[in-house]
Amino acid sequence: MRIINHFLAVGDAPAPSRVAQVFNPSTGQVQAHVALGDAALLDRAVAAAQAAQPAWAATNPQRRARVMFEFKRLVEDNMQSLAELLASEHGKVVADAKGDIQRGLEVVEFACGIPHALKGEYTQGAGPGIDVFSMRQPIGIGAGITPFNFPAMIPMWMFGVAIACGNAFILKPSERNPSVPVRLAELMLEAGAPEGILQVVQGDKEMVDAILDHPAIGAVSFVGASDIANYVYQSGAAAGKRVQAMGGAKNHGIIMPDADMDRAVGDLIGAAFGSAGERCMALPVVVPVGEGTAERLINKLIPEILALNVGTSLDPDAHYGPVVTAQHKERVEGWITQCEAEGGQILIDGRNFTPQGLEGGFYVGPTLIDHVTPEMDSYHNEIFGPVLQIVRAPDFETALSLPSKHQYGNGVAIFTRNGHAAREFAARVNVGMVGINVPIPVPVAYHTFGGWKRSAFGDTNQHGMEGVRFWTKVKTVTARWPDKLEPDSSDRGGNAFVIPTMG
Ligand code: NAD
Repeated sequence: MRIINHFLAVGDAPAPSRVAQVFNPSTGQVQAHVALGDAALLDRAVAAAQAAQPAWAATNPQRRARVMFEFKRLVEDNMQSLAELLASEHGKVVADAKGDIQRGLEVVEFACGIPHALKGEYTQGAGPGIDVFSMRQPIGIGAGITPFNFPAMIPMWMFGVAIACGNAFILKPSERNPSVPVRLAELMLEAGAPEGILQVVQGDKEMVDAILDHPAIGAVSFVGASDIANYVYQSGAAAGKRVQAMGGAKNHGIIMPDADMDRAVGDLIGAAFGSAGERCMALPVVVPVGEGTAERLINKLIPEILALNVGTSLDPDAHYGPVVTAQHKERVEGWITQCEAEGGQILIDGRNFTPQGLEGGFYVGPTLIDHVTPEMDSYHNEIFGPVLQIVRAPDFETALSLPSKHQYGNGVAIFTRNGHAAREFAARVNVGMVGINVPIPVPVAYHTFGGWKRSAFGDTNQHGMEGVRFWTKVKTVTARWPDKLEPDSSDRGGNAFVIPTMG
């Protein structure tokens, strides 16, 4: 069976001593094995990164940007094959896989502007003959540890910015869908990135721990479940690294009584069930405000949900495909059962769902549950499947408090025609990314992505200028050029034993 190996600069990767199965979630078949690396393998990657990085950092930013431009072109040329490969290992439909790649490419487009982003700051005449300037220098070697649900976008969020900033980058993708990251690394090499600047090490917890322990890796970016994000943040920070670690989510969509219900329902369906609900910016909770709103919402939702078409990731008519593994299917179905036991009223039940002829695949049917309350465990936790929970709220203040008090604070959306309500909501809600009549408010690449509370650990977001700050360190230079033509004792800065001031 095919082995998906590491992508290293130094010769062929050694034969793996451990492997994991890679499934096709649409059929349930094992389609490949992925190598699982260890600390010795990581040492090889780090040595190659150390050899390559100084020359890359010394390459002027415009030339580094040209590599990113070329990479973007190559990814676009290979879009169809990349999307099919991604879909076959993830289970999302091909059109959605293209969106995954495209959102990553938008960060690469941002990285094409790196000369501008790295310009630094300058103050002329901060004191007598004194100028002050700051420059941003690369960290050296950065690492990224990524989840299964965006196998192209999230790696590009990280390495797009890190590499443009002059770093070497080591990517540890999810072991569930490891092929696309390797293809991206091949295309970066083809685009002109020197060997060793982007490497892929495959693996599981053993490789993550090796990354967190490695003294030569200066910064680690992580995206995944919150408990693991917290572990990565704590361990990486204790080892002296810069760490940003994005975690899980439970995003709410608030439907105000004056919302355009047709549009809101269309948006909700896509945001709740697209990619089988396996998005950190999905909308798995809807909060209708007022009983009349709840009734109108449910009456419109039910026929739309019943009309959803679930099929293989290659089925062009499918709205969404399978979830990622058999274990995850079991977990999602377990949460539906738990929610029912806690008092939720199941309006549409997606358990034991099998599309015709696809008995082995990991499918969960679309599920709608009413009368969910904040006390329920199934509300408190991330389900990460095609399950929409309805939490009814009597008024705006209650609706505002639900996402604000939830343990997660990634995204939230409000649907309304009332500008004042939207403005109040955006200002007061305790969540990191807000949509106003926008169901999945993933910020564009030149803004920045990051949640609050248990959705993110560390204090720097992904991409935009926050990404540039994360992948660089600031050096500030204070320079004095005394006037040699007119020597003056005051040029020496007065009493050398007193802390210098510019006064
Ligand atoms: P995951 O946490 O299981 O895996 C993420 C990465 O951590 C993988 O590379 C995996 O190999 C590694 N890993 C797994 N177990 C580990 C352990 N015990 N110790 C160290 N490393 C470990 O996440 P997933 O299931 O691949 O992805 C889904 C999760 O990611 C969801 O919770 C989702 O909300 C979250 N997510 C968050 C964002 C965000 O930006 N906030 C974006 C996408 C996904």
